[in-house]
Amino acid sequence: MKYISTRGDRTPRGFSEILLEGLAPDGGLYLPVEYPQVDAATLARWRGLSYAELAFEVLSLYIDDIPAADLRDILQRTYNRTVFGTDAIVPLKPLEPGLCLEALSNGPTLAFKDMAMQLLGNLFEYELARRGEQLNILGATSGDTGSAAEYAMRGKQGVRVFMLSPYGRMSPFQQAQMYSLQDENIHNLAVQGVFDDCQDIVKAVSNDLEFKRRYRIGTVNSINWARLVAQVVYYFAGYFQATKSNDEQVSFAVPSGNFGNICAGHVARMMGLPIRRLVLATNENDVLDEFFRTGVYRVRKSAETHETSSPSMDISKASNFERFVFDLLGRDAARTRQLFAEDVEQRGSFQLQPQEFARVADYGFVSGKSTHADRLATIRDTWERCGTMIDTHTADGLKVARQWLEPGVTTLVLETALPVKFAATIREALGREPERPAALQGIEDLPKRFTVVPPSVQAVKDYIAQNC
Ligand SMILES: *Cc1c(COP(=O)(O)O)cnc(C)c1O
Repeated sequence: MKYISTRGDRTPRGFSEILLEGLAPDGGLYLPVEYPQVDAATLARWRGLSYAELAFEVLSLYIDDIPAADLRDILQRTYNRTVFGTDAIVPLKPLEPGLCLEALSNGPTLAFKDMAMQLLGNLFEYELARRGEQLNILGATSGDTGSAAEYAMRGKQGVRVFMLSPYGRMSPFQQAQMYSLQDENIHNLAVQGVFDDCQDIVKAVSNDLEFKRRYRIGTVNSINWARLVAQVVYYFAGYFQATKSNDEQVSFAVPSGNFGNICAGHVARMMGLPIRRLVLATNENDVLDEFFRTGVYRVRKSAETHETSSPSMDISKASNFERFVFDLLGRDAARTRQLFAEDVEQRGSFQLQPQEFARVADYGFVSGKSTHADRLATIRDTWERCGTMIDTHTADGLKVARQWLEPGVTTLVLETALPVKFAATIREALGREPERPAALQGIEDLPKRFTVVPPSVQAVKDYIAQNC
């Protein structure tokens, strides 16, 4: 399988070539030249495979430059009970007839980002060893992504992580999760500032091309194709668990921010998985809900971006969205470039032509929005009626899923985090503490390993130079 850019660069590149990359050189996002098609016979063969075997079947359609035995080994080491605490990896939790959760948060950091990041860690280690290279991953985090990256890369050969976080501003649980890692290749830099300071420093360091090349700086952000394709697997795994035969359809409801998770659902549907609807849920940051209602995509300014109680969905723009628009427009790269490289860059928005927007229905997308009050009500209702405690992001997904339920079609709501990560809102909704997995009892008391640095680009550069 070869990969091309959404903005017109058709230089064919293999999976291993784009694995360590972010954007394509022309500023677009990578997509496969075509989606491999899965027919009824293939679905029948895949039903009943273990998660790791299923992952091998799906991913080997997209990866032909890693020997099959190596890929199989990497997937067995990633998707197993030791890492995810369950043989099913993504078990379903029934709520009521026709509605269940698909649990994507059984990984080490209790959020769905582990599903892809754990694989990325093993793929990076493999590819860097093969090339005899090293990579220094630099990132900024206010919680979720940074800890998923650290738990994926800890102890890996050839990879170091330098993760900036705002000193003293994360919850005690989040601080404990990140700072308790004692691995030598993980560097937590607690910046004396806010999250924006951390992000500005990462941008400034990455814009210094000489420094970037010299210290082999890379990232693991959500536009990485390997992360996206790893997520395609759990749409298949959810489908097989929820259905008895391959002529049934299911719908998925997805708490969305950067459009990475639901874009994997779009890819699964394009491959031929019988998905009826992809129900996109946003919080108060409703850039994507607005698009799916109106055909207008309008990037928000920082002042218009809300800090909500489902913080991992607090986005001003959706960094993977261009992939879907490219497909929606019949893969017209010139039109995609015009919308994203011109209209969005210059005016901060675009509006599709009516005949372009009309095609959205063919792709199964519908959407809705959920607010803080909706989250509280949904968490409370799910606890009282089903005895299931859900986190704030999953609550957004469930709230919107209920607006689109159809008789005879099961809806799977993707559970993207566990409630223990968002204790304050759980207390507000239920007046009690969230449940905590046994392995994480008392992690706040573990010794912490981090370095406090001033909010200065030079201080961060100096630290990286001294620790490479
Ligand atoms: C990242 C994240 C999301 C949003 O996923 P996208 O791929 O950015 O759309 C939702 N919930 C949780 C808990 C997350 O960490």
